[in-house]
This record gives sequence, structure tokens and C-alpha cells, in this order.
Amino acid sequence: MDLRFSPEDEAFRREWADWLAAELSGRFAMVRGRGGPGDEHALTGERRAWERRLGEAGWSCIGFPREVGGRDATLTQQVIYYEEYARAGGPGRLGHIGEGLLGPTLVHFGSEPQKRRFLPAIVRGEEIWCQGYSEPNAGSDLANVQTRARLEGDEWVIEGQKVWTSWAQWSDWCFVVCRTDPSSSRHHGLSYLLVPMQQPGIEIRPIVQITGTSEFSEVFYNGARTAAENVVGAPGDGWKVAMGTLAFERGASTLGQQFAFANELREIIEVAKRNGRARDPLIRQRIADAWIGLQLQRCNALRTLSGGGSQLSREAMISKIFWATWHRSLGKLAMDVQGPEAEIARAAPYELTPLQRLFLFSRSDTIYAGSNQIQRNLIAQRALGLPREPR
Ligand SMILES: Cc1cc2nc3c(=O)[nH]c(=O)nc-3n(C[C@H](O)[C@H](O)[C@H](O)COP(=O)(O)OP(=O)(O)OC[C@H]3O[C@@H](n4cnc5c(N)ncnc54)[C@H](O)[C@@H]3O)c2cc1C
Repeated sequence: MDLRFSPEDEAFRREWADWLAAELSGRFAMVRGRGGPGDEHALTGERRAWERRLGEAGWSCIGFPREVGGRDATLTQQVIYYEEYARAGGPGRLGHIGEGLLGPTLVHFGSEPQKRRFLPAIVRGEEIWCQGYSEPNAGSDLANVQTRARLEGDEWVIEGQKVWTSWAQWSDWCFVVCRTDPSSSRHHGLSYLLVPMQQPGIEIRPIVQITGTSEFSEVFYNGARTAAENVVGAPGDGWKVAMGTLAFERGASTLGQQFAFANELREIIEVAKRNGRARDPLIRQRIADAWIGLQLQRCNALRTLSGGGSQLSREAMISKIFWATWHRSLGKLAMDVQGPEAEIARAAPYELTPLQRLFLFSRSDTIYAGSNQIQRNLIAQRALGLPREPR
């Protein structure tokens, strides 16, 4: 197994890192390190401009085909892209769901007109997307989706409620999993619709989270409309398309995220050295453990890449549960390293430090994109051949 990057990949890494360093110390210096978890509301106008700048310079959606504005980049280059972005302190990406989830879904399942309509606008950073899967009674059990859509003339009309929709309030479009066959149940009769967010039939109610920000919202569809052609795949094929999107969610951006985690660990170590807790025998053990966990994630990402990056490989299966559990405990370490001050906000009414935000937001790591319990069920069934979970 060769875990090294090729000379071409290293050249690609340098070119991208140089571009980022120049932009993030120049016109876009103000967004450097901003807009991450717990800081989503920061500088949204400037971060929209950043999305457009990435697109204009050819540094967005590099895995998309060339004919829609991408670079046809290999999976390895996409991972390098995310690594360097994190290393440079690139801002939280408003375009992440369009680039990482909907874009690859359309490349695989979309019609030619859908690809031509939607992909270039994602590349140019002009249209921001959100994901409408979860409902009050359909989270881990996504097949229980109750939101309905019916065809009326040349439009779908949508009724129902979604919840936990990240970045809904900043999005132009949402991909919504709906039940289009009223007599169906479970994963049959669902469709994957592309729905414009700015319309009277959609009401967005942001949810205030423990970070004090509203990363996600409740979204009510009260007769919301979208054109009949905005269904990805055939009507009734929504489950297959929705599962395709989930596989992309665990793709290149996740493989490259250890560099962002490394930045956080570095900050924790600096605090521990500054305030003397680096001499505490238990804290030292935990910092060393965190570093070991980070090296393991890196090795697992590299061996996933060297095996072609299959979504169903054992390496890919253990990755979500491993990084989520590790990152949540890093959040606890961040608090313990600060000592009692960790529990005091930086300023009134609720201004948090980056390490406090890390702790609070990392509580959700083991829930979104498949909870730990669900991941264990999948590993039991698919990697270890245990019988399906009884219903
Ligand atoms: C920060 C964040 C952002 C999110 N963004 C989005 C988004 O943009 N769009 C979107 O559609 N959704 C989003 N979600 C929702 C996310 O996908 C769901 O929270 C997740 O699927 C879990 O569903 P649930 O919250 O309904 O919990 P439930 O499914 O009700 O689970 C509750 C608990 O029961 C456990 N459990 C459930 N079923 C089983 C089982 N079969 N075996 C063992 N244990 C089980 C779970 O592990 C969990 O601990 C987001 C969530 C978070 C935290």
C-alpha cells in the first residue's frame, strides 16, 4: 500500500495553498477562520463574496466535470483541496452542501438539463443549497418521511414539515425528500425534489442552539411549489437518489478534515502550555491520546484513498463513528484545559471563544450524518455480517 502523494498531487497542493495564502491575507483577510460551527452567522455577505471569488478563480467544485465549470479533479486532489483549505483557515463554506452533496448527486442522477441549469450556478457560488431530509418523525428512520408532494399541472405542490435544515435561512434552493405516491410507505413512493426557498409557501423558523447561533431551522412547506421537471431521477426513485447523496456526504471533505482538527488540537496545546495545565499528568495523557487519534484518522483516510475510496469499504465505515467520537472528546478536552474560565462567556450576552464553540458544537458530531448508534448497526450488518436489526 503506497500512502504517499504523487509529485503532480504535491504540485497541485502548492498551487492551491499559495492561492489561498494570497487571498486570505489580502482582500478576504476578514473572513479567515470565520463562519465555522457556532459562528455561522458571521460575515455572511463577505462569505457569499468569497464563494463567488472561488468560482471565478476556478477553485470551487474541483471534482465536477469540466463542461460545467469543474476540473475533473481526482478524489486524492479533492482531499488535498480540503486539507489545504483547513490548514489555511479558510472560512466556513456557505456553498458546502451544493458543492459536496447536491452537485455530485446531480452528476450521477440528474438529467442533462438539470446539470446545465444547476451545476454552473453552484460552481460560480451564485446559488446556495440546503438539505431537506429530516422531519420530526423521520431522522435515523428517514424512510418514515411524511412530507407530501402532488403534481398540479406543470408544478409539484409540497405540504409538510422538515427540521434541522442547516443554513436554510441563507439558502436559495433545497433538495427535499417527499412522498409523491400517497398510497406508499417506507422507502417506496418517495421523490427527490429541487425546491426554490424564496417563495410564499415556505416558512423558515431558525432554532437557537446551545452555541447561541442558529445553524439549522424548522422549515414548513405550506403549498410550496416547484416546476415538474425539478425531480431528480424518476418520481418514486427518491430513496435511491437520497442514499446516493448520503454516500457523498462521507466523501472527500470528510477525508480531508483532519487538518482542521489539527488546528484545534494545536490551539488546545498552546492554551495548556500557557496556563500551566500542560504539567497536569491527566491532561498530558489526554492530549497525547488526542494526538494519537488524529494520526489514526489520517492513516485511515490515506488507506481509504489508496483503496480507491469506496464508500462501502470497511475504512470508510469506521471513519464517521471514529472521527465523531474523537472530536466530541476533543471538545471536552478543550474545556478541561482551560479550567474554570472555560465556563465564562468572553463578553455579554453570549460571546463564546473558539474553544467553547468547539465543545458545544461537537456534541452534535455523533448525531448528524448518521448517529453513532446507527453507524454501529451498519458496521454490525455490512462489515460483520450480523443479521439485520429486528424492526
Ligand atoms: C448540527 C446538525 C445539523 C443537521 N443538519 C441537517 C440538514 O441540513 N438536513 C437534514 O435533513 N437533517 C439535518 N440534521 C438532522 C440529522 O440528520 C438527524 O438529527 C439525525 O439523522 C438523527 O435523527 P433524529 O435527530 O431524528 O434522532 P432520532 O432518529 O430520533 O434518534 C434519537 C436517538 O435514538 C437513537 N436511535 C435511533 N434509531 C436507532 C436504532 N435503530 N438503533 C439504535 N439507536 C437508535 C439515535 O442514535 C439517537 O441517539 C442535522 C443534525 C444536526 C445535529
